[in-house]
Amino acid sequence: MTDTTAQGMSTRSVHAGESRDPEGAIHTPLYTHSTFAFDTTADLLDVVEGRKPGNLYTRYGLNPTIRSLEAKLADLEGGEGALAFSSGMAAEAATFLAHTRTGEHIVCIGDVYGGTFELLGDNLPQVGITTTFLRADELHRLPEVLTGRTRIVFFETPSNPTLDVFDIAAIAEQARTAGALTVVDNTFATPVNQNPLRHGADLVVHSATKCLGGHSDLTAGALIGSAELLAPVAMWRKNLGQMIAAETASLLARSIRSLPVRVRAQNDTAAAVASFLAAHPRVSRVNYPGLATGEAKRIVDAQMRGGGGMLSAVLDASAAETAAVVDRLRLFAIAPSLGGVESLVTQPITTTHHGVEPGERAKRGIADSMIRLSVGLEDAHDLIADLAQALDDT
Ligand code: PLP
Repeated sequence: MTDTTAQGMSTRSVHAGESRDPEGAIHTPLYTHSTFAFDTTADLLDVVEGRKPGNLYTRYGLNPTIRSLEAKLADLEGGEGALAFSSGMAAEAATFLAHTRTGEHIVCIGDVYGGTFELLGDNLPQVGITTTFLRADELHRLPEVLTGRTRIVFFETPSNPTLDVFDIAAIAEQARTAGALTVVDNTFATPVNQNPLRHGADLVVHSATKCLGGHSDLTAGALIGSAELLAPVAMWRKNLGQMIAAETASLLARSIRSLPVRVRAQNDTAAAVASFLAAHPRVSRVNYPGLATGEAKRIVDAQMRGGGGMLSAVLDASAAETAAVVDRLRLFAIAPSLGGVESLVTQPITTTHHGVEPGERAKRGIADSMIRLSVGLEDAHDLIADLAQALDDT
């Protein structure tokens, strides 16, 4: 494997974690095998007892394709190690279960993916793990909700769908003082635009289904951090059977080799789309990290290298008129995911926040007339023309 520590993000995305096999295949091959053989019992015990890294059984993650992907993920996020999972939710669930016990507590800041809300709010209370949810405008209450039983502070930055940004260093400092771990969902930013571990986070989680996969054709998750914090999570992953399939690991590594090229193009196109929308008379607000002002801009400048491909806009329209605008879009497909090469649009009240009560949505800044865009790899002028015709055709 190449020593990549001094290299740039694009070089590392291509080369980190890769090893050439005896046949000369240009990068790590796909090993679909469920088990791996040893010459001697002593060799097997070296791997089983952790004296030597090696391959053993794919559900444990001890498979060359999966280990290669994990080395790449760890490198890109600047972590000691990484664990790959069958989905982003698998990564989150294993992390919460490994680092809390019955009677202990999690704090969740800001808007998070609906599945995360359900896991923290409905599933984990069944095993006695409770969560306090703080809205973005309640962040000042963090010191009072951190108790002696709090083990994890969790948040997305930027968050979904309001694109709120949170100061990772400041939150991690408060969490550490209270004896809690800081876990950041970096799905929206990607390691190209932000490395939470560098700012004091303890663990970084990804829905690799999104930008890391980047082509809307795989489902996977990732967790990156220190070997000490990953070890208990690896045990839950193994025994809950949440391992990524080797085929998916190979496809995901393929995608990550071009991640910086894709994400930087999405940064530029999303910035152009955000500026177009901000100047449009039918748009009353645009949420995009690249357009942040005041305290949010300070946070963006301190911890992000690009605004990302996600943005949301509030239209000067009713919910029905907003749905009509969405329906008139031709290039943006109506779909709830994000981060792929095709641009997508959703009206959060119909998808991600459909189940959230209207009063609560209003408190969270999720208007009925909000649209969320995931900007893909099409030309900016074509996406802007599509938005123009959809907004202007009244
Ligand atoms: N985190 C974020 C920010 C997401 O948007 C999602 C899914 O939409 C998840 C986590 C869950 O990921 P997955 O669908 O891969 O389980």
